[in-house]
Amino acid sequence: MSTPGALDSLVFDNRFTAELPADPSTDPGTRQVHNAAYSRVVPKQTTAPRLIAHSPEVAELLGLSPEAVASPEFAAVMSGNAVLDGMDPYAMAYGGHQFGNWAGQLGDGRAMALGEVVTPSGQRQTLQLKGAGPTPYSRMADGLAVLRSSVREFLCSEAMFHLGVPTTRALSLCLTGDKVLRDMFYDGRAGYEPGAVVCRVAPSFIRFGNFELFASREDHDLLRQLADHTIGTHFAHLDLNSPTVYSDWFGEVVERTAEMIIHWQRVGFVHGVMNTDNLSVHGITIDYGPYGWLEDYDPGWTPNTTDASHRRYRFGNQPAIAQWNLMQLANALFPLVGDADPLQEGLERFVQVFNTGWQQMMNNKLGLGPVVGEEDHDLVVDLLQLLPRVETDMTIFFRNMAKLSLDPQVDDNTLLAPLTDAYYQDDSLEGDVRTDTIAWLRRYQARATAGDLAGQDRVAAMNAINPKYVLRNYLAQLAIDEAENEGTFDLITELLDVLRHPYTDQPGKERFAEKRPEWARSRPGCSQLSCSS
Ligand code: AMP
Ligand code: MG
Repeated sequence: MSTPGALDSLVFDNRFTAELPADPSTDPGTRQVHNAAYSRVVPKQTTAPRLIAHSPEVAELLGLSPEAVASPEFAAVMSGNAVLDGMDPYAMAYGGHQFGNWAGQLGDGRAMALGEVVTPSGQRQTLQLKGAGPTPYSRMADGLAVLRSSVREFLCSEAMFHLGVPTTRALSLCLTGDKVLRDMFYDGRAGYEPGAVVCRVAPSFIRFGNFELFASREDHDLLRQLADHTIGTHFAHLDLNSPTVYSDWFGEVVERTAEMIIHWQRVGFVHGVMNTDNLSVHGITIDYGPYGWLEDYDPGWTPNTTDASHRRYRFGNQPAIAQWNLMQLANALFPLVGDADPLQEGLERFVQVFNTGWQQMMNNKLGLGPVVGEEDHDLVVDLLQLLPRVETDMTIFFRNMAKLSLDPQVDDNTLLAPLTDAYYQDDSLEGDVRTDTIAWLRRYQARATAGDLAGQDRVAAMNAINPKYVLRNYLAQLAIDEAENEGTFDLITELLDVLRHPYTDQPGKERFAEKRPEWARSRPGCSQLSCSS
């Protein structure tokens, strides 16, 4: 008998490995894996595993007690040193389009699923370690992860969840006690960094690229088995016997992906590497690498140094790229559907769901209520053209719009006062920009007054959608600096705590809601990130 809440009380039901064909080889070496959905793997032993942060909500979701999380066994399991009864560690085979080009087999090169937990509330959640050693899919790399990228993944997963953005979760962040060699700037100056492992949690880690790999090899049996597993396990409301089940499912992936991107655009999140191997079929944000948050509103911004010249994955391009990626998924599913029309219809739904949802989301950010017509679209588009004309902090601007006076009699200075905090330069609002901003705000006042929302309702509704606290790039970097230089993790915990309530004013925590300081403008990690992780 196990104690309720203890690690050995976790109930595993590993459907992915039970239902799909395994790689017959257990050779840990890097290779091409054919006719298999995954390879069984063994996590690497670490020298001195140590839990440095965890998410209490995710532990609770899984049914783990605080005592279980505090036990040495937890750190051992979540860093890969111990495997529990019922776990069946595996690395998935997948491929993908990277930066627009087909890249062949990629796979879980440094991620290992431990198994699928059936939670006390009956949900299925897969536990996956990131950075627990090499797999057959590691290609030229070591299968490990460093502290800085692990802190970023851990914090951002939870920050996104609390913002209401569909995402993988993070249960734990462990140091391994081992050193990992990385060339952070790709300039030949490699150095050792502390190794770390994040335990990620999601219904599954199945990506567009899983389907693409089997389609590219014309392995239609395996393609169908994977589709049936995915639908039967995770989209069980669809009828596998229906002749339209695959295109119906595709339509649902389209909708979920569109909804996810609307959320990204709402909070100013830039994924940075929207390759098809980094898009989940659940429509949840996955693979936090060189992501970033818009500070000054600039639709052309990308955080990823690898993408600096083409800016394929810039903020403003995320909707188009999502649709491009969905087209690759549609191509992969074509052999199952046998007719392009329903897949084409699914793709077209993206435009409709995204455009309608995005406009309503922007109306909500501005406290305007239901969309009434073209004027709302024009109002929003004009604002988004105005914002980049001077450096304007996106988060502060929208948050403070709730404080704007709707009284048409207020003078211009009073009208502008709540927004001054959002501008990066004190004297930036002059001349034409000032005139145009005031003109826009006067139009806005009239429209907002005519809307359904009034007074306190409007303020509450706006504050519930415009976060005060987001994981600003430099804040994550400060937590990383402290962890790397002082060996203390208090700022990670404090940030996690603040980001658990992103829509609530938190007295004493104002410094986490401030604009990016000047020193952070061009510091690596704060503005631009490489894929090195
Ligand atoms: P990403 O674009 O970072 O999601 O990774 C693309 C591919 O590279 C995936 O197949 C990853 O598993 C693999 N990969 C990234 N970093 C490593 C690493 N340190 N060791 C092994 N494989 C890696
Ligand atoms: Mg990836």
